[in-house]
Amino acid sequence: ARKFFVGGNWKCNGTTEEVKKIVSTLNEAEVPSQDVVEVVISPPFVFLPLVKSLLRPDFHVAAQNCWVKKGGAFTGEVSAEMLVNLGIPWVILGHSERRLLLGESNEFVGDKVAYALAQNLKVIACVGETLEQRESGSTMEVVAAQTKSISERISDWTNVVVAYEPVWAIGTGKVATPAQAQEVHSVLREWFHTNISPEVAASIRIIYGGSVNGANCKELATQPDVDGFLVGGASLKAEFVDIIKSAT
Ligand code: 13P
Repeated sequence: ARKFFVGGNWKCNGTTEEVKKIVSTLNEAEVPSQDVVEVVISPPFVFLPLVKSLLRPDFHVAAQNCWVKKGGAFTGEVSAEMLVNLGIPWVILGHSERRLLLGESNEFVGDKVAYALAQNLKVIACVGETLEQRESGSTMEVVAAQTKSISERISDWTNVVVAYEPVWAIGTGKVATPAQAQEVHSVLREWFHTNISPEVAASIRIIYGGSVNGANCKELATQPDVDGFLVGGASLKAEFVDIIKSAT
């Protein structure tokens, strides 16, 4: 069985005071045990040590990005080694905001995933199509190409969670319907079955992201191939607790 996974991607938001407030809400929440749901919070880099120090021990932290190789003369970047040094177990890579706004290609994201895994980080690897791509019928082609660029560079998927985040659903309030999410998740799982192995297809967690909130999470969570969520806006609010609870 695949353990339900709920990630909170805070993106480029928060002040020290806000961070403390959100963490204290999470720390007080009654949620299913970590045998049932894995919860990973991803604040901006500068708040990672603070969040890690305050956050309850059954929740974990993730960085939102890291550099593609060993650190050095790369102004403004944060290396995978630094995350390891700080005891940050997870990193989000290939988020559509980085692909689209910062020009990260499939190859670059694949290189990042491979490098981060080699440093023993666990990776939330994001894939997803734009509205234009969906409307032209190329959703699966796009998602398969993004996944293939990763698969060409890694052989062990144990420490990878795939986040399917359709770009048209991110921050738009326009959530994918449970059927739309399930369709892509199941085809993606089939892709793993055919191109990687039946074992990886059965065990890899494919989580959904894009306008998930406290009200729509329940039905999405019942879909057989939806193994959790990557939550943006709602992860900054108390309703994130309801999303964690949708694991059961
Ligand atoms: P929203 O939940 O704000 O739509 O963002 C989703 C997302 O991009 C999570 O990584």
